[in-house]
Amino acid sequence: MSDLSASALPGTTAASCAHAIEQSTRAEAALAAAEAKCHAQGVRLTPIRRQVLATLYGTHRPLGAYDLAEQLAPKGRRLAPITVYRALDFLIEQHLVHRLVSLNAYVACPHAHSDGKPVAFLICEACGGVDEIEQPALAEALSELLSGEGFQSRTTTIEITGACAHCGDGSAVARSL
Ligand SMILES: [Zn+2]
Ligand SMILES: [Zn+2]
Ligand SMILES: [Zn+2]
Repeated sequence: MSDLSASALPGTTAASCAHAIEQSTRAEAALAAAEAKCHAQGVRLTPIRRQVLATLYGTHRPLGAYDLAEQLAPKGRRLAPITVYRALDFLIEQHLVHRLVSLNAYVACPHAHSDGKPVAFLICEACGGVDEIEQPALAEALSELLSGEGFQSRTTTIEITGACAHCGDGSAVARSL
């Protein structure tokens, strides 16, 4: 996916890292695509579902359900977490959001994949940014391994923590995803 190709700006800090910039530039298009997808599926992106998704698309960091409840709260009030969880369940079902088990947090999915193929998340411990990589060869190899073991996988996400190309050594590598 070339939408993730990052030519890191020199001197970007954690507060305005390349992830944040990438995320904000594609948030609107991603939300529009999500709306079209729901329409095509005949499911409703209700206002609360849309708000949860928009909030997730608006940040480069994974958010927990309570963070979401707080951010979406009308002034002074807090949204019931159950409301947020229900919206998240829907969004996960529609493959618009993924749950990161290691962080117990959620990220909006920028890809248009719709099945249970394995996806890998690269979680940067420095800037908090998360990149989702779709790598058919990886997915295939993993599926083969699992069926070889006769293992029925329930979760299909791989979570790798470390330092992203922007934070690692300051010089972003050319990426070819
Ligand atoms: Zn970052
Ligand atoms: Zn995804
Ligand atoms: Zn980083």
